[in-house]
Amino acid sequence: MIFKDATLQDVDQALVQSSAAFADYAQTSLKVRAALMRAIAVELDSLGEDLIQVTMSETNLTEVRLKGERARTVFQLNSYADACERGDWLEVSINTADTARVPPKPDIRKTKFPLGPVVVFGSSNFPFAYSTAGGDTASALAAGCTVIVKAHPAHPKTSDMVAGAIKSALKKLGMDENIFIHLHGASNQVGEALVKHSATKAVGFTGSYQGGMALFHWANERREPIPVFAEMGSVNPVYLFPEKLNDNAALFAQQYAESITLGVGQFCTNPGLIIGIESDALSVFVSQLGEKITSIAAGKMLHEGIASAYKIKSQKAIEQNAVQLAGSASNANDTISGTPMVATVDADTFLSNPLLAEEVFGPFSLVVRCKDINQLHQIASSMKGQLTSTLIATEGELQKHSKLVQTIASTCGRLILNGVPTGVEVCLSMQHGGPFPATTDARFTSVGGDAIKRFARPVSYQNFSNALLPEELKNENPLQLWRTVNDQLTKNAL
Ligand code: NAP
Repeated sequence: MIFKDATLQDVDQALVQSSAAFADYAQTSLKVRAALMRAIAVELDSLGEDLIQVTMSETNLTEVRLKGERARTVFQLNSYADACERGDWLEVSINTADTARVPPKPDIRKTKFPLGPVVVFGSSNFPFAYSTAGGDTASALAAGCTVIVKAHPAHPKTSDMVAGAIKSALKKLGMDENIFIHLHGASNQVGEALVKHSATKAVGFTGSYQGGMALFHWANERREPIPVFAEMGSVNPVYLFPEKLNDNAALFAQQYAESITLGVGQFCTNPGLIIGIESDALSVFVSQLGEKITSIAAGKMLHEGIASAYKIKSQKAIEQNAVQLAGSASNANDTISGTPMVATVDADTFLSNPLLAEEVFGPFSLVVRCKDINQLHQIASSMKGQLTSTLIATEGELQKHSKLVQTIASTCGRLILNGVPTGVEVCLSMQHGGPFPATTDARFTSVGGDAIKRFARPVSYQNFSNALLPEELKNENPLQLWRTVNDQLTKNAL
């Protein structure tokens, strides 16, 4: 099937329709939005085996993985629907008037408004969870925004089927079909036109650094700049502290061989950099990790473009001065497979060659050998923003090196202790984000109910009568939300 690329007229029409739909959708109650999200979850599930088969053929991902990812996407839609209704993301606060004060203090009540039509770009490696009905779409709908999705060109049929499920949910609920609009566009022109259209009010993106930054620049060159929430690549550094490694080198080698090669390394939280201190334990870790990686078969990557980029980047990394290969699976002689690889380099070389700190998207990891803890600290200080950082350490080591831990924490969104970074739990306390260049806005998460906050802005009402206020700000607290009233968190009516 050939998918028709949207023309510039199609983009304009989509934004006009989306803006018109926004005028009404922005006024809907939290209950109505939550009902829509739950209905989309039902429709997505009811696409059954057909969807899984289509997505398998478009992505080379396994049936088990895709069934799991769809279940996660359904869970996301339902849990963000719950978060939408709970209304904590509105962060309602009320300070009541004090007419006796000189000058009199006004009654001020703060809530949030949806931003407007949101353009969503999904990623190829999560065809469900970070794509058409993924986290960005769910959180924008929860905030009261209409959504225009640009289908990822690597899985257009999947995107069409999922878009059909969303349309079907809207139809069954009798809602405006233009609350959600789906466009194709294999060229970057469509994306550019969507971001630059004056009616677009925000962008959600998951993908590469290059893609995210192109969108970010376009959004900032507009007459009216708009926020771009771009979740981009990351190398997810892992810091090995000597005492903990000494007792568990073999165990961590096993865990990391599995984490590096999970899903042929095609996860944004893939551990691409492991930093340790020269010791016997580090040598054991490197040699065992190398052995295990050698025994893992090359797997099919998402598409030939990603496989070719992996081949070029991993090759370039191992060809750098002083980089040694510690283990490599046998090379599959085709254009689609990704060969697991682990290499090692000394810290001086690493610090003098910025290319070695770049993401190699696929089953590749680089182990950096430091002379001592000070050099490890030097590397931690040089690290760019990351989605995650992992500490392999005893409690005593963490206490002794608290400044180093602080340095590491200040460069990432999620800090993991004695585990692996792959696997992102969907829950309210998850922070999936991080300082630039992991994302374009470290203050927000793209996973968990708080992701809704990206697509809403605070508005204060001053001296409005109870009858004129939105539901969430009324004295009676009809929505039974948690609200901060005169600086105290409460569900009580005023
Ligand atoms: P990608 O190539 O950047 O594609 C993502 C989307 O952005 C696609 O729709 C793509 O459309 C569009 N796009 C990319 N470059 C563009 C440009 N210059 N102008 C306009 N649109 C553009 O990313 P991917 O290959 O799908 O995903 C792999 C990357 O995503 C990895 O780096 C991975 O670490 C990252 N990732 C990050 C997260 C996270 O949460 N932080 C999650 C998953 C993946 P076109 O193909 O038409 O250009």
